[in-house]
Order: sequence, then C-alpha cells, then structure tokens
Amino acid sequence: MKLNNDKALVVFSGGQDSTTCMFHALKHYQEVELVTFSYGQRHALEIEVATNIAAEQGLKHHVLDMSLLSQLSPNALTDHSMAIEDGDIPNTFVPARNLLFMSFAAALAYQIGAKHIITGVCETDFSGYPDCRDIFIKSLNVTVNLAMDEDFVIHTPLMWLDKKETWQLADELGQLDYVRFKTLTCYEGIMADGCGECPSCQLRKAGLEAYLAERGTK
Ligand code: ZN
Repeated sequence: MKLNNDKALVVFSGGQDSTTCMFHALKHYQEVELVTFSYGQRHALEIEVATNIAAEQGLKHHVLDMSLLSQLSPNALTDHSMAIEDGDIPNTFVPARNLLFMSFAAALAYQIGAKHIITGVCETDFSGYPDCRDIFIKSLNVTVNLAMDEDFVIHTPLMWLDKKETWQLADELGQLDYVRFKTLTCYEGIMADGCGECPSCQLRKAGLEAYLAERGTK
C-alpha cells in the first residue's frame, strides 16, 4: 500500500517522554495519531491520562489491549504486590515488551497508512531495557519493513538526549508547562511532579531541576 509520508503514529503512554514526542510529531507531520498499550499497568490512571491528552490535542487515539503480557512474566509494573527495585536490569523489566509493542505499532501504522512511527525510547539514561537500545530499534525497523514489504521509518527523537535535554526539547516546542503538569511518569501514579521518590520521579526531577537552573542563567 502507499504509506502517507505526512502521517505519523506516536507510541504514547501519557508520560513526559512520549508527550514530548507527540509535540515533536505535531511540529513535523500534518497528520498524527497516538497508540497506547494497555497491559495491566500499575495504574489505570496511565490510560486515562493518555486518553485525556489525546482528546485535548484532538488526536485519534488507539488503545490496544496487550494484557497477554502479564502472562509472560510477573513483574513490578503489573504485579502490584511487588516493590519496584533498581538493579542492572530493573524488576520492571518485561522480556521483549518493546519488541511486542513496536511490532504492534508497525502493524497499526500499516492499517492507518502512516509511514512514520515515533517512539520515546532513550539509550542515554540507560534503563537496562535491551529492546530500547538504538541498535535494536534499527534492527526492528528493517524487520517490520521486510515483514510487511513497506518502508516505515521509526524515529527516536529522544534516543541520545538525557532527561535535562528532553525537558529542553519540550521547552523548545513551547510545551514545557504542558509536559510538566499534564503528564504521568511516577510509579506511584501521582501526576505532574509525582511522588518525588520513586526511580522514575528522581530521574525526571533531577533533569527538570538541571534544566531550569541552566535556563535561569541564560
Ligand atoms: Zn514517583
């Protein structure tokens, strides 16, 4: 089929990174749609936040049921009885999660005719997830193109940015406050600046403080 070169599908969780990617996409593509994966997140609030942002931006939002993931491994993102711990590979790890998500995103992109697929994965603040690395995304891009005989382009605008630079990108897109106050990144399910204590909040907060300090001196 003929893919639309002006159309992008953004893999969207309602968090800081993917919301920044959404604004990046809105700047670069005429048509933008969002896809969110539902897989028993610790907080159904995550889906709600994503849905609200999509509605606010007037964007078509696809929510795909990936609850089968919880059958593959017990982990702290889906099993509420487990605490989230940091380690070499954090126990929030679901084997091959991003492989599955990106494959489904590509299948959806085919259905809606979007040539561009945008994901906020990042290698800089290396999360320990091997299927979020640049080499994996490049490999997957080749694979989905061969699988569907298409020429999708997977974009990773945050791949080499640290959290401070991701805040800077949101600011350059004119959306610093929107991303800061309307997104959900916290593992405890607290909006905006979050609980301030979980690994996700600590990373987000350190990046924001570093960026605001730098911006203040310009
Ligand atoms: Zn938190």
